[in-house]
Amino acid sequence: MSFTLAIVGRPNVGKSTLFNRLVGKRLALVDDQPGVTRDRREGDARLFDLHFRVFDTAGLEDVTDDSLEARMRRQTEAAIEQADAALFLVDARAGVTPLDAHFADLMRRARTPVLLAANKCEGKAGEPGLYEAFGLGLGEPIALSAEHGLGMDELYDFLRPLI
Ligand code: GDP
Ligand code: MG
Repeated sequence: MSFTLAIVGRPNVGKSTLFNRLVGKRLALVDDQPGVTRDRREGDARLFDLHFRVFDTAGLEDVTDDSLEARMRRQTEAAIEQADAALFLVDARAGVTPLDAHFADLMRRARTPVLLAANKCEGKAGEPGLYEAFGLGLGEPIALSAEHGLGMDELYDFLRPLI
């Protein structure tokens, strides 16, 4: 069984951008399964010499009758349950939002290892958000830029001992 990493976080923090960077052209077909997995993209990721499966919880933006919070809770709980590790992204440029803080509580109770990452950290605009992320109680956040490929070493250092 291969190691699986779930990328979780509220919409627009950069989950899919990171997913695409990790998966590149190796994107797997989306499984047409009922429930939360329907909202999920899965692919074969590569990070330096590491190979693993990655989930992108992609469906939070879909229009359903459920609230964003309900969908996010369902997807986050499923990801925590099914993945071997989770990467919890916040948007350093937007700063920590109440929704981020709410879901940080969920992440803190996870049995799976969680890495907190402040994305969009290229340049100085992300600095206040990076410091805010320390307050989420998930340890020291790594500074990431999914778009520019920054922070991949720190992600590697987190994953290496687990895989
Ligand atoms: P998702 O909703 O969490 O999957 O977020 P997306 O991957 O769709 O990205 C949301 C927006 O943030 C898009 O406009 C991305 O181009 C932008 N974005 C993603 N990563 C970065 C980053 O590292 N830096 C900056 N400045 N923008 C980013
Ligand atoms: Mg997305």
